[in-house]
Amino acid sequence: MTSTFDVINPATEEVVRGVDLTSVEETDAAIARAERALVSWRAVTPADRGRLLRRFADAVDSAVEELAALEVLNSGHTIGNARWEAGNVRDVLHYYSAAPERLFGRQIPVAGGVDITFHEPLGVVGVIVPWNFPMPIAGWGFAPALAAGNTVVLKPAELTPLTAIRLGELAREAGIPEDVFQVLPGKGSVVGNRFVTHPAVRKVVFTGSTGVGKQIMAGCADQVKRVTLELGGKSANIVFADSDLEKAAATAPYGVFDNAGQDCCARSRILVQDSVYDRFMELLEPAVKGVVVGAPGDEKTEMGPLISAAHHAKVSSYVPSDAPVAFRGSAPSGPGYWFPPTVLAPVSPSDPAAVEEIFGPVVSVLRFTDEADAIRLANDSAFGLSGSIWTRDVGRALRVSRGVEAGNLSVNSHSSVRYSTPFGGFKQSGLGRELGPDALDSFTETKNVFISSEEQN
Ligand code: NAP
Ligand code: MG
Repeated sequence: MTSTFDVINPATEEVVRGVDLTSVEETDAAIARAERALVSWRAVTPADRGRLLRRFADAVDSAVEELAALEVLNSGHTIGNARWEAGNVRDVLHYYSAAPERLFGRQIPVAGGVDITFHEPLGVVGVIVPWNFPMPIAGWGFAPALAAGNTVVLKPAELTPLTAIRLGELAREAGIPEDVFQVLPGKGSVVGNRFVTHPAVRKVVFTGSTGVGKQIMAGCADQVKRVTLELGGKSANIVFADSDLEKAAATAPYGVFDNAGQDCCARSRILVQDSVYDRFMELLEPAVKGVVVGAPGDEKTEMGPLISAAHHAKVSSYVPSDAPVAFRGSAPSGPGYWFPPTVLAPVSPSDPAAVEEIFGPVVSVLRFTDEADAIRLANDSAFGLSGSIWTRDVGRALRVSRGVEAGNLSVNSHSSVRYSTPFGGFKQSGLGRELGPDALDSFTETKNVFISSEEQN
C-alpha cells in the first residue's frame, strides 16, 4: 500500500496536495534503473550531453513563474526569492552544460610512453535535499552530477517535494532520459537512508542538519562511499567601527532574516565593535522593524512564514518569555507559522541562542573590543560556513577574511552564493565544495592511464 504525505502551505496551514511516498522497494528499483542507464548516458557524446542540459535549462527558464508559484505555495518563500531560486536552477544548468566538453584530463611527461588522465563518472549519485531551498540545492547536486556523466536519484525533503517533482518532469520534457534523472519523494529514513546503504549508489550529496550529516558520513564509511556534506552554520556579521555603519545596519536584517532565517548562511551572530555598539543598535532597530513580513505571494513581502509547526516550536524555544529581546519586527497573526524578526541583546557568547543554529529569524548581537577579539569570537563556533566583514580598511578586510574559519565570506555585503564560485563549509559546516569549477571534481574519479610507446612485435 502506498502511503502519502500531505503537503501543507505554511502561510495558511491548508493542505496543498498529497504526495505518494516512495517505498524501499521502489527506491531499489529506481536505483537499479539508474545503474542500467549509466551505460547509455556515458555514451552520449560530450556535445550532445551539453545540448541536453541546455535544453533542460531552457525548459526551466520557460517554467520560472510556474516553479516560483509552486515554491510560494509549498515553502512560503517570497515570490521574489522563489523566482531567483528557479532562475538559479536554470543558471546552474547552463553553467554545467559547458562542462561535458571541458572535462579535460592531463598529459603528464613520463619515460617510455604517454601518461594521460581521465575524469570518469562515479556512477549513480544520490542527492538528498532539505526543505529550506528545495530548488537551488537540488540543482547544485544534479546539474554537475549529470554533466560529469553520472545518473542521479534525488530525494526532496518530505515537507517540500513539489518543485523537485516538476523539475523531474521538465528534465524529461527536455529529452533527458527518464532513468538518468529520477526524483523520489519520500522519507529520509527510507529513501535517503537507502542511498547511503545501497552499494550501487556511489556518492551521496547531502544538505541538511549536522546531526543527520554525521549519520550519513558514518553510514557511507561502510562502503567508502563518496560524500559531500553541506550542513549548518552560525555565521558572524562583523561590524567594525570604521565601517559604513548606516549601510551595515540597514542590510544586517537581510543578512539573517532572508528566507525567515532558514538559510545555512544566515548571519545569525552580529558582532559589533564596542565603540559603535550603541549607535549601531539605534540604526538596527528601524531596519528590523521595517522588514515587511506577510503573504509570500505579495510582491512587496520580504519575509514569509517558517516551514512547519514543529519548526516554529523549535525556533520559539530560543526565545522564552525571559529572553533578552532588544526589539522585534512584526508578523501576521492567524493561520500560518509566523515568527517576527527578533533581535537578542545582550547575549553571552555561551548562550544557546548564540551557539546553536536556530534556523529562524532570531539574531544575537555581541560586542567585541578589537580585530583579534572579533576573529576569536567569530571562530568560537563548531560551524564555519559563511560570514560578513564590514570595514573601510582594505588591509583589515583581508586580514579578517584570512582569519575567519569559514568557506564563504563577503566584505561590505552579504553575498554567499554565486553559481560560478565554490561554496561549502569549514569545520562542522560541511565537507567538499559545490558550485563553480570545483564541483566537477567531486562528481568524478581521476583515472591515470600509461600507454607504452615500446615497439610491439
Ligand atoms: P534534516 O533532518 O537533516 O533533513 C535534510 C534531508 O535529509 C531531508 O531530505 C530529510 O528527509 C533527509 N534525512 C533525514 N534523516 C535522514 C537519514 N537518516 N538518512 C538519510 N536522509 C535523511 O534537516 P531538517 O529536519 O529538515 O531540519 C533540521 C535542522 O537542520 C534545521 O532546523 C536546521 O538547523 C538544519 N538544516 C540545515 C540546512 C542547511 O542548508 N545547512 C538545511 C536544512 C536544515 P525528510 O524530509 O524525510 O526529513
Ligand atoms: Mg529531520
